[in-house]
Amino acid sequence: MEEPKIGEVDDLTVLAKLDEKILLNELRVRYENDRIYTYVGDILVAINPFKKLNLYDKQYCTKYKLSKKGSLPPHIFAVADATYQNMLGYGGSLPRNQCILISGESGAGKTESTKLLIKQLIELCKGNTQLEQQILQVNPLLEAFGNAQTLMNDNSSRFGKYIQLKFKNGTVTGAKISEYLLEKSRVVQQNKGEENFHIFYYMFAGLSPEQKTNFGLDSNNVHRYVTTAQSSVKAKLASYQQDYEELVNAMDMVGFLEEEQENMFRILCGVLNTGDITFQQQDEDIINTNNKALSLTAECLGLDASEVLDTLTCSVAVTRGEVVKRNYTKSQAEDARDALAKAIYGRLFSWIINKVNSLLAPKDLSGQTETNEIGILDIFGFEHFEKNSFEQACINLANEQLQFFFNKHIFMLEQEEYKKEGVDWKEITFVDNQPLLDLFLGRPIGLLALLDEESQFPQGSGHSLVQKFNKNLAGNRYFLTAKNSHSNNFTISHYAGKVVYDSSGWLEKNRDTMPPGLMEMLQRSENSLLSVIFKGKLTRTGTLALQGRSRKSMKSRRSTGRTRPDAARLNKATKERKLTVGAQFKNSLQVLMERMTTSNPVFVRCIKPNNQKAPSCFDGPYVTAQLLYTGMLETINIRREGFAVRPTFQEFVDKYKILLVDSKAAGDRANCERILKKTGLQGWHVGKTKVFLKYHHLDALADQLQSVA
Ligand code: ADP
Ligand code: MG
Repeated sequence: MEEPKIGEVDDLTVLAKLDEKILLNELRVRYENDRIYTYVGDILVAINPFKKLNLYDKQYCTKYKLSKKGSLPPHIFAVADATYQNMLGYGGSLPRNQCILISGESGAGKTESTKLLIKQLIELCKGNTQLEQQILQVNPLLEAFGNAQTLMNDNSSRFGKYIQLKFKNGTVTGAKISEYLLEKSRVVQQNKGEENFHIFYYMFAGLSPEQKTNFGLDSNNVHRYVTTAQSSVKAKLASYQQDYEELVNAMDMVGFLEEEQENMFRILCGVLNTGDITFQQQDEDIINTNNKALSLTAECLGLDASEVLDTLTCSVAVTRGEVVKRNYTKSQAEDARDALAKAIYGRLFSWIINKVNSLLAPKDLSGQTETNEIGILDIFGFEHFEKNSFEQACINLANEQLQFFFNKHIFMLEQEEYKKEGVDWKEITFVDNQPLLDLFLGRPIGLLALLDEESQFPQGSGHSLVQKFNKNLAGNRYFLTAKNSHSNNFTISHYAGKVVYDSSGWLEKNRDTMPPGLMEMLQRSENSLLSVIFKGKLTRTGTLALQGRSRKSMKSRRSTGRTRPDAARLNKATKERKLTVGAQFKNSLQVLMERMTTSNPVFVRCIKPNNQKAPSCFDGPYVTAQLLYTGMLETINIRREGFAVRPTFQEFVDKYKILLVDSKAAGDRANCERILKKTGLQGWHVGKTKVFLKYHHLDALADQLQSVA
């Protein structure tokens, strides 16, 4: 047999020889020929082309419908097709519910892959329903509010999401989105060279002059929260305008009412104006130095200007029945202002997700008919910046968890099964990252538990936190203390590399409490939407549970009394302890893991070819690093040596007994062997209860079935 040329192999598990260099070369040559997709058995590797490829038009949609794996070049549409077929029950003993897990660094192509998957899944089940169109519009909507330009990616998702598409008899009946950890801090501050969420630019380009005047939007978009150079905003004005139109279209299509949209824009302009409120210390008091911004904020948010100022500049506590007023310092007032903006944006985002979910929920709630689902996970990739904070720790924990799930599924469970079934097997080792999960999630000694403990101390600081970590975790080989004992830094040795974290600000971010009085003030807003989103309660996974979502409650309730909240309520609010952000995140990861465990997981590994977002540039060492830390070599090995297809005796005989020309053949071991021997195939194994096959066996068997049919 002739050796295939480099780059000609669609499935790397068939390579006769394999090492780091060979693997890289195969991928490089494929990439240079615009073959961005490659299989590793049932896993799809996708390398970001950073340019438009003619791979996704109608012709491809049709070609990859009900295709046989292996008969066509690797493609993301083939993954959609395979999951769809499994969901319909063509996957034998596999669970019907599917879960597609997309991993990769920021900018590697996860979100684009997610969109392509959804597009093709809708194509596959096409019933030309309104719901299908709505589902396709969800992405532009979410991206406007949840994405931003960063150094890594011009359209970086600043939240994680899990999208569940629900099906009945092969047609889509609904969808549900879960969000993970929106990066709220971006609203008030962006790193150099980065931008605020897209929506702020779209609004600026798209709102009418009257709306801009009414909502107090500066005609040059000069707001403290938008630091992007005006020249670059101007240069993109036309495309922002188009994006705005697209967004409004999407909101109409999905079902957001005009009144709701107007309220949303008003609130967002209120957020921008909030940022322009500035303070100065004057003797004992903090005074506002931008009255225009204050009154615009109050106007947009449906609040009373003097109450806004009061709430941002002093706190009122009740001690032994007496009201005690305490003035903030300048920086406390600034923090309160930013906390207000972040809270509004975060809650508004949750409300949008909630609203989408209620609009796209399956209509048949009787639970009579069985539904199946395909879930797609698009979370933030591993992050490693110059300065890494609490957000990066959470993001990287999520990636550890995902890698663990990958390991468990690909290496642990599979090899356990070979042992149990008596398959002659040489153990393949892999890097187990369980110790890192323990380091983060362990109780009482783990990063999150220690963080929660320290968050309870009002006097706690970044420094007291890092000291607590150092004291309790010093013996852990994945935790490294800083050389300088005054430093707030510590290092974690992640599966994807070492990351230095700075513990400053973690306690505040983890507590995520609003300064006293803000919540109550916002609940009484005259902007009906704003008051609704602050009356909702946060669940244990941090999602917003709304009460009174009916249209009636959306109507403005004008002229309600504007008294300050009574003492008892204020006292209660400060006493109630809510779940920390870390705990919510941990819970939501746990829910996700449970869901993944009961589904059939499908893995898509996105690779970033270079760090410059550049087309036609394959940075060898950069790609190698990604291949190594994701365990790609070991994965190819286990997929090459292993048996990806494992039907039970009964399933196997049922499917292939025609090959024996014996329709009554019993589903036992002997018949399985008879069938397999008759096919002339090599390399399979018959275990104690199951048949062990490789992917290419399936294709060969299908061919033989076809020829006897
Ligand atoms: P991630 O979600 O992993 O951070 P994205 O999916 O947002 O990354 O991809 C970043 C950018 O890379 C996209 O905005 C797009 O320009 C480009 N890109 C990603 N996948 C493709 C693709 N299949 N074809 C063309 N361009 C792509
Ligand atoms: Mg993304």
